[in-house]
Formats: sequence, C-alpha cells, structure tokens
Amino acid sequence: MRIAMTKPTLSQKAERFTESVIREMTRLAQMHNAINLAQGMPDFEAPGEIKEAACRAIMKGINQYAITWGAKVFRDAIAVKVKAGLGMDVDPEREITVTCGSTEAMIASLLATINPGDEVIIFEPFYENYGPDTILSGATPRFVTLHPPDWHFDPKELEAAFNNHTRAIIINTPNNPTGKVFTSSELQLIADLCMKWDALAITDEIYEYILYDKHTHTAMASLDGMRDRTITVNALSKTYSVTGWRVGYAIASPHLTQGIRKVHDFLTVGAPAPLQEAGAVALALPQEYYTDLAAVYQRRRDLLLKALRDAGFHCSAPQGAYYIMAGFRALSRLNDTDFARYLVKDVGVAAVPGSSFFQKPEQGSGYIRFCFCKKDSTLQSAGDRLQTISRRPDGPG
Ligand code: GLN
Repeated sequence: MRIAMTKPTLSQKAERFTESVIREMTRLAQMHNAINLAQGMPDFEAPGEIKEAACRAIMKGINQYAITWGAKVFRDAIAVKVKAGLGMDVDPEREITVTCGSTEAMIASLLATINPGDEVIIFEPFYENYGPDTILSGATPRFVTLHPPDWHFDPKELEAAFNNHTRAIIINTPNNPTGKVFTSSELQLIADLCMKWDALAITDEIYEYILYDKHTHTAMASLDGMRDRTITVNALSKTYSVTGWRVGYAIASPHLTQGIRKVHDFLTVGAPAPLQEAGAVALALPQEYYTDLAAVYQRRRDLLLKALRDAGFHCSAPQGAYYIMAGFRALSRLNDTDFARYLVKDVGVAAVPGSSFFQKPEQGSGYIRFCFCKKDSTLQSAGDRLQTISRRPDGPG
C-alpha cells in the first residue's frame, strides 16, 4: 500500500536550484550522438606517467582511507608546488585540506565560514556551481557584472556590493565561462575592499596554467595582507586532464583550515587515496609540462575561435581557461536554451546555454558556452558542423 506524503518532498534549499545544465547537456550530447563541447572535460588522455602512478598505487595496496585532510605525500607535494609556482610558504600540516575536486573544496569552504545573513559577492557570469553553493551554505549572493566584450568589472559597482554583511567574495581566475584573467591591479582593488570590509577571498584557481598570449596568473593569497584572508581552491582536474579523479584542495590559514577540514570530513571523509599518491607524481612534473599545456591549449583556442567566428558567432578571445562565451544573435532569435537544444539535436554539437551562468536567465539568453578541451580533430569536426548553421533551410529561426 502506498501512503500519500503530505509534507514537502524536498527541502526548501533543494527546491531553490535546478539540476546542473552543464551536466544535463553532456547527457543530451550522448543521447543525440553530438560532439560534446558542453561539459569541460578532455576527450584526450591524461599523461601516461600519472595514469601509471595511479595503477601502481592501487597495486601497492593504497586502497583504504587516506588521512581525512589528505595523504601526507600529496599535501607535501602541494606545498612544494605552491612554493615553486607562487612563491608562497604553505604548511602542509595545518594549511591544506585535500577534497573531492575543487567542487568540494568550494562548498566545504563556504559551509565552514558562512553564517545566516552573510553575503557573498560573485562576479557574473559565474561558474554554475557557485549559485547552488551559496544556497546550500545559506549565503545571500550579491552579483557584480563582468561587462562584455572584455568582461571587465566597474570598480564602482564592485565597491557598492561590499558592506558590513559581506563575508566573502568568490573569484575565479582564469575565469569560467568568460576566459577573463584578472590582472594584478584588479586583484589588488578586490584585496583592498576585502581588507576594508574584513571579508574573505575564496579564489578558484583551477585554470592557473591555462593562459594565452601574454597573460599571467596572480594568486590572490600572494598579495600583501591577503594570505590569511584567502582560501585558495584548486584541483588536479584541469591541469592534468583527470576530471574524473575528483582530487582537489583548499589552502587557507590554520584557523580557517580547521573549519574546512571538519566540514570536509563529514561531507566525504576523504578524496580517493591512490589518486592522491598519483597526484604527488603529477605535481612533480617538470616545468615543460606546463609550458606545453598552455601552448597546446592556445592552438585549440585559436582553432575553435576561428570556427565560431566563421560560423557567425560573436566572441572575444579568452585570455585563459578553456571556454568561449559566444554571442549567437546574428544566427538566431531563439533563446539560449532552445538554441542549445537545436544545436545538439540538429547540428550535432553540444554547448551550454548562457543562462546557466547568470542569476537572471534573460541576461544570458543571447549566449552559449563552448569548451575546447578537445582533440584538434574533435574541434575541427565541430567547426565543420557549426559552419552549416547559416545555410540550413530548417535554420534556427
Ligand atoms: N568545470 C567544468 C565546466 O564548467 C565541469 C563542470 C562539472 O561538471 N563539474 O564545464
């Protein structure tokens, strides 16, 4: 016998956000056999030496929990890497929490620091997860616009977003979905406001090595006065092309780390132990690995950018990360969701509707996001298909 349930089925929090559109587009891509330029995951292999290290770790018997806040060998490797790359001294015993991807590092950081009534500033367009992250952590989001075509922010608009309730600002640089790389002077301006209003900076730096042209990455934590008020979020996923491993980390002062570690422990206990061992091998790859990574991504960026422009999209060249926000108004009057559905079904290319990156869907209705962490041949085939849009008799309207 089935008994009717009269209480609400879902929590108020779960009612307030939808399924991830990025992940949904991947499922639609599979259903329609389309080329998946939606979810940012490589279709090429991770470096052989780190795959071998992962297999070795499993065969060596590293198959039980690591220490909840991360295997020592991996935390030590992170500390060495951060010192070499960013010139920052990090204590692996007290300042690093290893998590299940940067996704968990971000939500654990928010859950560890947010109280009801606290506001969190988010640049918009924003990576989809930050919306639900603020709801789950109980924060009130305040959005600050990144203005196209170069995705700059207006310092006055940013200043106006800070107040006594501001607990944190989330910064993602290099940025998903815009490709913006925040300059050191922009970060300095943000830092000054964080210090003025006693706010934290939570920086998602997962694309730190994926940089184009002359753009360079500045870590917020390296700015004067920001070391103790910054939580730096990162992961192996993008730099080493292992998005399915789910190994990330948060770096923060000992006091903040204590809170992040507690939350992390009860969320997931720990990240996969053998993959943390392999992560230590990944972090020790030579400098050329990173130079090559950026060069290969620059080639992929140029390939997709040209294909999109030739097909009639409007887009500025990303400075970093591996996405292009493309305006499609010259091609169609559909809204972004319908246009994305048309693309995946009729053209055979999956992308993410622009509204996924905005609080108000209409703001993203003329955009669609393509990722280019794909083989050249994949990007070429996608490009060929996209060229057909303007020639189709059954066009997108
Ligand atoms: N960061 C990637 C994107 O924006 C993947 C998101 C995810 O599915 N976790 O597409």
